[in-house]
Amino acid sequence: MGAYDDLKARLGEINDLHSSAAILDWDQHVMMPARGAAIRAEQLATLGNLAHEMFVDDETGRLLDAAASSVDSQPYDSDEASLVRVTRRDWEKARRIPSELTADMTRQASLAIPIWVEARRTSDYKAFLPALQRNLDLRKRYVECFEGTFDEAYDVLLDDYEPGMRTAEVRHLFDYVKEHQAPLVRRAAEAAAGVTPPAGPWDIDTQKIFELEVAKAFGFDEDAWRLDKTVHPFATGAGSQDIRITTRYFTDHLGGLFGTMHETGHGLYEHQVSPTLERTPLGSGVSLGFHESQSRMWENLVGRGRPFWRHFFPRLAELFPSATAGFDSESWYRVMNTVEPSLIRVEADEATYNLHIILRFELEQAMINGTIALADLPGEWNRLMWEYLGIEVPDDANGVLQDTHWAGGSIGYFPTYALGNLIGAQVWSRIEADIPNLTASFEAGDFAPLRTWLGSHLHVLGRKFTPAETLERVVGTSSIDPAPYVAYLRDKLGDLYGVA
Ligand code: ZN
Repeated sequence: MGAYDDLKARLGEINDLHSSAAILDWDQHVMMPARGAAIRAEQLATLGNLAHEMFVDDETGRLLDAAASSVDSQPYDSDEASLVRVTRRDWEKARRIPSELTADMTRQASLAIPIWVEARRTSDYKAFLPALQRNLDLRKRYVECFEGTFDEAYDVLLDDYEPGMRTAEVRHLFDYVKEHQAPLVRRAAEAAAGVTPPAGPWDIDTQKIFELEVAKAFGFDEDAWRLDKTVHPFATGAGSQDIRITTRYFTDHLGGLFGTMHETGHGLYEHQVSPTLERTPLGSGVSLGFHESQSRMWENLVGRGRPFWRHFFPRLAELFPSATAGFDSESWYRVMNTVEPSLIRVEADEATYNLHIILRFELEQAMINGTIALADLPGEWNRLMWEYLGIEVPDDANGVLQDTHWAGGSIGYFPTYALGNLIGAQVWSRIEADIPNLTASFEAGDFAPLRTWLGSHLHVLGRKFTPAETLERVVGTSSIDPAPYVAYLRDKLGDLYGVA
């Protein structure tokens, strides 16, 4: 298989460039002194350009053709056939975009970010508007590169984050969620009104001890992982045995803990991808939706669950005797699941989160289709916040300016968060059927059965298949079903608040 090995060697080098860039990027957020930013931007741009040029080059196409005939007799689900099939799709897609446009989008996004930071600080949407308009215009030019290959413009953007997913399907899923989740959340929020969260104080060094114990129980392994502090938590790394997760700590609430569990979920996905896919384009999670299904599963379905707190509350109480005074594992579990509509997406509770996403999904379609003028965006944002969450937005900093995504040029990204919730619940139903004593194992502090199941059914596959094919292999159907998620939420809120 000479031709196949040649292809793999080239893709391995491209992968080395990407993973080196990932470590430089991690370093920038975790270690780098502030004034290193200017030269770091050059270094990252150089690595990115080299990787992109090597990938879209005719030579990659020639190696793909040669490798295709040499793996002809391999089955569809072999590593070899999958590598050629998936890489060809990536290559054909990447070749449609002129390098100047990629460079323009990158440059414009890096200019827009500081403008957005300042606009958010002063709650001045008008100051951000021209930068947002330029980002949107560039995304429209990007969409034009795919003329005729999709049903609607938003499909093109969505496909970058959730390959194969179509806007019409997301609309259909979200309509179901909106219809069932919004009234449920309203009733739960009324029932939960007046619950005050424990005020702390939460000593940061003690939090670090507790969080590491939780992460280790989930699968964090000091020989292959790092956990560091950052401003905005993320997960990255340079291969399955070099997983870097980051978190943050607050002294007045335990939000950082849930962030750590979330990023551990992302890390586990990358850590358990088949070693045979290392240094190839297949050696990572299949889509953002699937990635979020994993992070949210560990954060919410596990970490906000009763069995988890039955095991971990005594240890928390031992480490934080005064902050947890008056609570037992049951009342602690309840207070960790308070439902309260709030302004900020990243601080939203499990029950209200999807509604924040649906609002953004609807606005993004209107932006890309031109059915809303950007000047009218804040008003429309505020109207939908009232309609879906029943709260009034006091200013744009707490409204339309809160997220970094549009400043960074990302449109079409948001839906993957909510799709992750839906996929996660769908996978969870299958896990509960396969592992009948899951609750007992969590109560005993044993998360290995869940981790192992996810590793062998989902993580091992990496990017070998499309998201739809992956779902089919994991749960037996290729389409996302919102019913398990809504049922999960209804059961949980029904138990907590007596609402259904
Ligand atoms: Zn995430």
